[in-house]
Amino acid sequence: MGRVPLSEDAFAALVDAGCPDCKTKKLTIEALVVQWLPLLAGEPFGAPSWGYKGEDLVRGTYRIACDGCKRELFTSSVCPQCGAAHGVRRALDNENAFPLPEACASCASEQVRVTAFVPARVAYEGRRASKARAGAAPEDPGFHAIRVECKSCHQVTEPRGGCPLCSGESVV
Ligand SMILES: [Zn+2]
Ligand SMILES: [Zn+2]
Ligand SMILES: [Zn+2]
Repeated sequence: MGRVPLSEDAFAALVDAGCPDCKTKKLTIEALVVQWLPLLAGEPFGAPSWGYKGEDLVRGTYRIACDGCKRELFTSSVCPQCGAAHGVRRALDNENAFPLPEACASCASEQVRVTAFVPARVAYEGRRASKARAGAAPEDPGFHAIRVECKSCHQVTEPRGGCPLCSGESVV
């Protein structure tokens, strides 16, 4: 079992091969992926968009399992953001430590856009992502804001200190 994040090539090889036991190509990918969420006065406002494809998904993938026999084909325990050991578990268990603002600190606009990591499950069949579900609202464990940008003046706020996902010390 790997401990480090996958490369895109390794990811493609895994989904191409499918499960070696039951030969199915239906796999479930679990990942921490980036989501962009519009906020109005501190509350979600409209549908989020998120990066559940390509490099974003591969980088955040921490588990790939067969849909049929549930065999694990890949697991990773390191934080996809900072590389800290056991960071995935902490990122999934911890709640968001970066409070979402009700208004921009600079121009007082109530519309901001949050960039956050959220846990997601994506169903794969061969190289095709067939179904994707994001798994966390801002108040749920596993949601971690990493950036807030004002829609009016584009002022950016980012958390300071340790890793916003796993609160670990950066090793990369
Ligand atoms: Zn299987
Ligand atoms: Zn981390
Ligand atoms: Zn502003």
